[in-house]
Amino acid sequence: MGHWSSGAGSLSSRRSILVRAVLSARGPDGSPAEVEGWGECPAMPEPTYSADYLDGEEQVLERFLVPALLRSGVVRTEDVRSALAGTKGHHPAKASLEGALLDAETRLSGTRTADWLASRSASGGRPRERVPAGVAIGLGGPVGRLVEEVGRRVEEGYRRVKLKIRPGWDREPLAAVRQQWPALVLFADANGAYAASGPEEAAKELAPLSELGLAALEQPLGDDDLVGHARFAELTDLPVCLDEALPSVAALGSALRLGACRVANIKASRMGGYLNALSALDVCTSRGVPAWCGGMVETGVGRAANLALASLPGFSLPGDLSASGRFFAPDIVVPPLVLGPDGDLALPAGAGSGVDLDARLLDRASTRRTWLGA
Ligand code: MG
Repeated sequence: MGHWSSGAGSLSSRRSILVRAVLSARGPDGSPAEVEGWGECPAMPEPTYSADYLDGEEQVLERFLVPALLRSGVVRTEDVRSALAGTKGHHPAKASLEGALLDAETRLSGTRTADWLASRSASGGRPRERVPAGVAIGLGGPVGRLVEEVGRRVEEGYRRVKLKIRPGWDREPLAAVRQQWPALVLFADANGAYAASGPEEAAKELAPLSELGLAALEQPLGDDDLVGHARFAELTDLPVCLDEALPSVAALGSALRLGACRVANIKASRMGGYLNALSALDVCTSRGVPAWCGGMVETGVGRAANLALASLPGFSLPGDLSASGRFFAPDIVVPPLVLGPDGDLALPAGAGSGVDLDARLLDRASTRRTWLGA
């Protein structure tokens, strides 16, 4: 993959954990059949986005989460959360197990993941067949090169661009992009980079962004600083959005109660699964809070599951949902997720997430495989 840099660290190659769940069933003629589903644990290689990191998630999956799931005998997606509740935290690992079972269960019943999620959403509605895409662009100068990169993404069809920012790299790059593309849906993501300033000082530092028509200013302060974000929100008219500070549906409720955000980033891997993400979306929909579907640097496995989630009509802003080619050439799934002419991604037609692993590419990319059978 190309180099990627944010306030939460940088990457130039991507290791990820893919989880394969196999459900045994009976075929149409009564003979035993097996259906497999895939989930992804997209924790970062180092604990820079959250305390979770890839090797730690691998260990917690093997030592605690998979044994707990197997012991529980759970075969329904809806029961995964309670089966894993004995282990605290480790949301990306939990989301990968739930995601794998969700994919397998929906494939078994011939249902698309998107339809399955929509049928369980309190806000109702059907999934959108075309989902607006968005692209995130990493830190790093000079501004001229950034503007060129945004230009390439806009030409590819993206209508929503998110720039990573940090102190010293905020107003100037955002203003340069805004000047070129007045109608672009523009987000800025600080990944907590203004935490050391505190809310009052950060509000002063970021005040010049108010004239740039941002649709979201994401996570200026620390992960655990809801009160600080509430104070920041009092001092600014910027559309404050939270990401790292919303690890759970309860945290989202607290944030809204405190006035710590006006917009929510809903991310299944951060919230411990797709059903928690769905509950968070229902909270936002019922309170009229604009929400969008966030992502990590996932392969097509996690990306297709995020696409299913992002297709739900409650998401009112385009999310971190880019085509396979944004980070990986080639991606490990078929068909790859390709950007349509209107800057959107089509929901795949097939059951489950609608994409399959390319076995040859998976073989080539695999460094380790473990089977933890019942
Ligand atoms: Mg973010």
